[in-house]
Amino acid sequence: MPKAKEPRCSYCGRASSEVEGLVPSPDEKSYICTDCVNAIHDMILNYHEENGHGSKKSSKKLGMTLQQVPKPAAIKAFLDQYVIGQDDAKKYLSVAVYNHYKRLLQPDDGDVDIEKSNIILVGPTGTGKTLLAKTIARLLDVPFTIVDATVLTQAGYVGEDIESLLTRLLQAADYDVDRAQRGIVFIDEIDKIARKGDNPSITRDVSGEGVQQGLLKLLEGSIVNVPPQGGRKHPEQRMIPVDTKNILFICGGAFDGIEQKIAHRMNTHVVGYSTVSNRQRIDTKDFMRYVAPQDLKSFGLIPEIIGRLPILTHLEPLDRAALRRVLTEPKNAITRQYKKLFEMDGIELGFDDDALDLIVDKAIEYKLGARGLRSIVESIMVDAMYELPSQSVKKFAVTRDYARHKIEEAHFESVVN
Ligand code: ADP
Repeated sequence: MPKAKEPRCSYCGRASSEVEGLVPSPDEKSYICTDCVNAIHDMILNYHEENGHGSKKSSKKLGMTLQQVPKPAAIKAFLDQYVIGQDDAKKYLSVAVYNHYKRLLQPDDGDVDIEKSNIILVGPTGTGKTLLAKTIARLLDVPFTIVDATVLTQAGYVGEDIESLLTRLLQAADYDVDRAQRGIVFIDEIDKIARKGDNPSITRDVSGEGVQQGLLKLLEGSIVNVPPQGGRKHPEQRMIPVDTKNILFICGGAFDGIEQKIAHRMNTHVVGYSTVSNRQRIDTKDFMRYVAPQDLKSFGLIPEIIGRLPILTHLEPLDRAALRRVLTEPKNAITRQYKKLFEMDGIELGFDDDALDLIVDKAIEYKLGARGLRSIVESIMVDAMYELPSQSVKKFAVTRDYARHKIEEAHFESVVN
């Protein structure tokens, strides 16, 4: 808690105990903190860059050359270690991230300006959207934050201001504005701020269109004043200017019901052509793979937002085989995590194949998807985790019978229904 008479930064308002350093003016009547010095330095560099007398700022700051940046195929191979399936989404993401680096490294020769390519991932919940974004951030060593679009509201309404998502990024970057300005923001549940219906709203739509308008400013790249501590609880705090030009935004959403809109669009398109053969080529079980920008518009995203999210890709629902792989294959697969936990007690843990099949069957039966796998395994393992460390057991195998018994005891049906 800062003391009452503590000197404060005249720009962001934070007290000397809250910042790394505070520089006084010659008359010692005002102060500036090191973060604000950096932010202003950046703005001056940006100004010079934009006015043609560039300073090769980005490549210097990035501390790497394009040769050192992982190539798209290497990025995808890294994602493959953690995320099952979703090849299309992985490919799009890998290319987008590689291009993101190219943007940061582009020479200031006043020639072609490579524009930012924010991404939108469309797919059912629990299919790996957040996991993909998190895994990318792990590879890139850039500040990363996840924000739920549903908590954002237009300024002045109950909820979080849109700028608060940059506050979180700043926090993830330890208030290093420079690093934050190269970070990645994952905006989850973007579909929940769709306006209701395809028509522009007549009345103000606080939670939907207003938020989309607010987000637009961030997505297109501008200097945004960010409250360093977020929220409106600290009205005395001064703002930190953050340039969103180089921040990569990845949005994700389930877009429940968008299949109907896609189907509708495709039907109207095929009419008049060789209808039968076109229809045959369409996989009606998985309409999501044909998602196009106009479907997002029909769903209620405003065209300006769609325009700022030029990379649109989809995630597939995880079928039985994929769920089975999720259990064992990823580098930090659930079963591997439990094996490690037991290993620390000197116990070798094993899962019988048919026990794993049962876990997948239950996740499907209870409609829990990949997200449910963990809770099912947890309910199977909790007694063993409680009892075995105090026994002299060296080996423990989870059989199908053992798993079934524990799942029955957990009464999953009552939790789900
Ligand atoms: P969402 O698509 O709703 O963002 P998440 O990425 O949060 O889903 O997935 C929830 C959990 O399910 C993850 O933490 C992971 O354990 C598991 N999971 C989902 N999809 C995959 C996948 N494709 N590969 C591996 N694990 C997955």
